[in-house]
Amino acid sequence: MAEQEASGLQVLLSTLQSSCDKDVILNILGVLTDLLSLGTDRRIHYLISKGGSEALLQALATAACSDPPDDATLLPLLRLLARVGLRDRKFGLKVRRLEATDVILSLARKYLGHHLYLTHCLWVLQVCASNVTAGTALGINGAMELLFKVITPYSKRHVRTVRAAIEALAALLKSKSNSRRAVNRGYLCGLLRLYQDWHHNDVSNNYIHIRRGLLICLKHITNIQLGRENFLDSRGMEILFTSVQDCLSCKNLDPIIRTVTQILRKCYPKEPLPVPTVRSSYSFPLPGSVRTEPPCMVPEEDYESDGEEEVEKDLDNDDDETKEEDDDLETDVNKLRSRPVLDRPEEELKQYEAMCPELSHNFQELQSESEEEKSSEDNTENLPSTASYFIQSATSAKHQNTRSNQNVTEMGPDPGEKDSKAPPQSWTKKKKCRRAQITERQDVEETIQDADSLEEEDLTRSHVLTVSPLPKEAAWYKKMFNNECEASINPSPGRRLETSDILKNLLKKHQENMPFHSPFFYIGRAECVKSIPDYKFLAFPDFWGHQPPPYGKPMLERKYGVQRDKVLDDVRRLIQPDDVIGRTVFDLDEPNYSSPGAPGCLTFFSKFESGNLRKAIQVREFEYDLILNADVNSNQHHQWFYFEVRDMKLTVPYRFNIINCEKFNSQFNYGMQLVMYSVKEALQGRPQWLRVGYDISYYKNHYRSYAATAGGIRRKSYYTLAFSITFPHKDDICYLAYHYPYTYSAMMSHLDILEQSRNPRKVYWRQQTLCQTLGGNPCPLLTITAMPESKKRDDLEQFYNRPYVFLMARVHPGESNASWVMKGTLEFLLSSDPIADLLRKCFIFKIVPMLNPDGVINGNHRCSLSGDDLNRQWLTPSSQLHPTIYHAKGLLYYLRSIGRAPLVFCDYHGHSQKKNVFLYGCSIKETLWQADCMVDTAVITEDVGYRTLPKILDKVAPAFVMNSCSFLVEKSRESTARVVAWQEMGILRSYTMESTYCGCSHGLYKGLQLGTQELEEMGSKFCLGLLILHLKSLPCSKKLMAQAALLLDLEEEITDLRAHRSSSNSSLETDDEPPCVEEIDYNTDSCSDGEGDFSELDKEIQECLLQVEGETEDGGATMGQTCSSKVLRGLYISSQPAANNRALPLRSAPLGMCSGFESSPA
Ligand SMILES: [Zn+2]
Repeated sequence: MAEQEASGLQVLLSTLQSSCDKDVILNILGVLTDLLSLGTDRRIHYLISKGGSEALLQALATAACSDPPDDATLLPLLRLLARVGLRDRKFGLKVRRLEATDVILSLARKYLGHHLYLTHCLWVLQVCASNVTAGTALGINGAMELLFKVITPYSKRHVRTVRAAIEALAALLKSKSNSRRAVNRGYLCGLLRLYQDWHHNDVSNNYIHIRRGLLICLKHITNIQLGRENFLDSRGMEILFTSVQDCLSCKNLDPIIRTVTQILRKCYPKEPLPVPTVRSSYSFPLPGSVRTEPPCMVPEEDYESDGEEEVEKDLDNDDDETKEEDDDLETDVNKLRSRPVLDRPEEELKQYEAMCPELSHNFQELQSESEEEKSSEDNTENLPSTASYFIQSATSAKHQNTRSNQNVTEMGPDPGEKDSKAPPQSWTKKKKCRRAQITERQDVEETIQDADSLEEEDLTRSHVLTVSPLPKEAAWYKKMFNNECEASINPSPGRRLETSDILKNLLKKHQENMPFHSPFFYIGRAECVKSIPDYKFLAFPDFWGHQPPPYGKPMLERKYGVQRDKVLDDVRRLIQPDDVIGRTVFDLDEPNYSSPGAPGCLTFFSKFESGNLRKAIQVREFEYDLILNADVNSNQHHQWFYFEVRDMKLTVPYRFNIINCEKFNSQFNYGMQLVMYSVKEALQGRPQWLRVGYDISYYKNHYRSYAATAGGIRRKSYYTLAFSITFPHKDDICYLAYHYPYTYSAMMSHLDILEQSRNPRKVYWRQQTLCQTLGGNPCPLLTITAMPESKKRDDLEQFYNRPYVFLMARVHPGESNASWVMKGTLEFLLSSDPIADLLRKCFIFKIVPMLNPDGVINGNHRCSLSGDDLNRQWLTPSSQLHPTIYHAKGLLYYLRSIGRAPLVFCDYHGHSQKKNVFLYGCSIKETLWQADCMVDTAVITEDVGYRTLPKILDKVAPAFVMNSCSFLVEKSRESTARVVAWQEMGILRSYTMESTYCGCSHGLYKGLQLGTQELEEMGSKFCLGLLILHLKSLPCSKKLMAQAALLLDLEEEITDLRAHRSSSNSSLETDDEPPCVEEIDYNTDSCSDGEGDFSELDKEIQECLLQVEGETEDGGATMGQTCSSKVLRGLYISSQPAANNRALPLRSAPLGMCSGFESSPA
């Protein structure tokens, strides 16, 4: 059948090329027109594959050469050429090969006064010019001059021709040499004037296509540096900015507004960031060799120079696991196969024996110890067990799977136990750092005095922390803390004591009803932290604590036009510079900078643990530009922010712009909000981080910097995160952050409380120090398992032989979500929940809850103090520069060397580009398949056990989505913890767990942003997953199985969840975000203006035809059918089987030429 079709079509095409009979040619064109006017593009592509373009071009050359030119065949021929050429990717090449550009150009010249013919020529010209080389040739031969003769100021005459000319010009200007030529001939200025003219006169918006066409011409010209300069010199910014103001209210002018916005963004003069250097304000002298990057000395005028050739690339090394690009997949089977090699002398491993005290503990003290501890038991058992409400068991009431029930207040201890105090400290004795012993409220005073006296004893550490002072004028504050604290509000030289009073008074107010948080413990830990800026202040939320709200917050719906409005507001700064205040109100680089708090101006502050804000500039009365600090010893990784803001007015929407973000894309464009904590709200009983902000948009801005790289100097673009906030109270103190903060001190004090809260008879717990960090902070290592049942040999044997699970978190400091997940894991593991009890009997947990303490403390986003991404150092970590990685790996080596490599290894992370929680794992086969690798995967055997845990989590954890998981091994990830643990340690179940910063697209939390409660729940569900994994995959004692069966009610729970899932959604997860209402334009120079769209020109041609049918505007003849056309048709039809008529219907809409024939049945 296909062959018959082909032969029929080929007969037509070869006849078209060779015939001199005008009627024959006319009729072939008629048949082709009919054929192509119905059906899909597939027909046109079929025609192209059979040499259709060449045949038509040949026929055009013949028609144009004949003397006089064959007017009758030209119109259908040009129409066909335009339609076919649009879809023929090699059309430009064919045009050049057949030297058709001259033919088209001379035809256009010839018909200059003959609008119907001219329009047709211009369409073909436009199609030819879409090929840059052909376009350049046309430009050299005077095409632009010709078009400028056709393009007129506003007129209602011949608008179709004018439009065709403008669109052809736009196509020509895609060629940079044409653009250059256009600028040199003054066309840019001419185009601007034409645009203004059409804009002013087209009041009814009848000629949007023409106006937009002119804009697209400008858009292409301004792709070159010369064009942008000329545009600025010609006052292009003002002209377009002013004109677009008239369009904003009219929705169908969107294409115009969008194109104007693109041009304005692109032409906005590029500037360096308003900071003395892009390098971090904080630097840290590294041990050993001094590594310094060369300073980036680039003269300012160069900021413009290379824009033309700029290739937009995502300069980010991004979250550790973003896109799986196929060419990044590891396809070397030998590399993929486990190849354990030691990166250090074997003797070194002995030191890690001390980190496995559980293996040498003989528990001789078991009896006596547990007796001793019985006395303290009452105390510890009273502590709330938050974990039990996350995981349902047969012994607990069924109320879990609904969101509304996950209210913390319902889950606290029984009312009778509310007065339980923070337990007596045991952590102080371990610390090198001198610290006050805080036990109960009454001791706070002592603590502070103790801390004061510290100065005399140890001058090297003058570390007394305080919350930054509360506002002087704040009446609410006085009321709340009554008279006794008034003295403390008035500053005087002896400031420290008074600020301590503030703390003291605050602590009296604290309810102490937050599970697993104690301000006393927090202060104690925070005082020992070693930070580069030597923090003196505590951020109130970290100290006071956070109680998650009992409801999830939906993702923010994106308002139409939000990005456009923000961008135009930015451009206004350039057009109306007098409106801009431009006052720096906070600056980390000016150590003596004291924010005087100009009247009506916000006050910023960020010098506290995990804080990050480098500079704040007041732009307008209620608008501030904010600049983030780079990671220590680095000039990049701006993403994490956490700062204090005060002195706000009530009911005023403040706009903030973080102007030096680096990521190419952001969940802020897909429903994510930042978080805010209000001190007033907290003191009124609502101590919570909440998702806030509206009109949120993330887009590329006009700031650039130059970074020195190995290959020279690289230009880098920045993005703006713009958001608006209306603060809940006047003169409040609020904290804004990228995500729920979780500081190092929070983690350390959390461990203190956990240790206190555990039941020592049941829980084996050891907190050791894995190593000291570069910054001198201890990196804790935890060992958690169940105490042996007794010191009988069997019980001890069972204890020693439990498989290991190795968990880590927070190697990337900006991923605070990972810490909240880890918090959930730890609370569950130490809880009195019977499932946790069982789980502890199954495994020995080795946990490093924070692999990068220094980064967290100093407000980094990605790196450690060495400026390195620690999750890219696992292949060859340096003991000096990356101690936590070096020793975590050492411990893994040690476990492997004694035959105890962990059953599961998991590194908790946060993901800024995707929704949901998911795992990355490692599989040879999946990688090779995905890479389309030729290796015979049948001969490779692979245990598919790596899939079990994610499958289980998909069923038990509401935020987890199996379809988001990936098990591919990428070359760029070869030095991550996951890949190294898999390859070098041979751990089959080696994972990265990624938690979104945003929310869920699937399951129970679909459409909601994740809060700390959901993140913690994920951590506890992960534990449940481990237990089920154990039951499924490992041999278990009967006793264990029986206990599990009693507790878990597994099948039921899993079926419940499955049913819930399938009812809530069944679609597969894709990485692509659904389109937003507003097309998101991250770049300033995207080509998303529908230029490549076929439908526009097609529509024009079609409309023109319908008109031509009725009128004879330019005297173009409507051709009648002749009998020879019937012969030809017969020829074509006879070559097809009758049944094929449906698939290739010859009946078509009346097109003028063939009406006589149409009515007869085929
Ligand atoms: Zn990460």
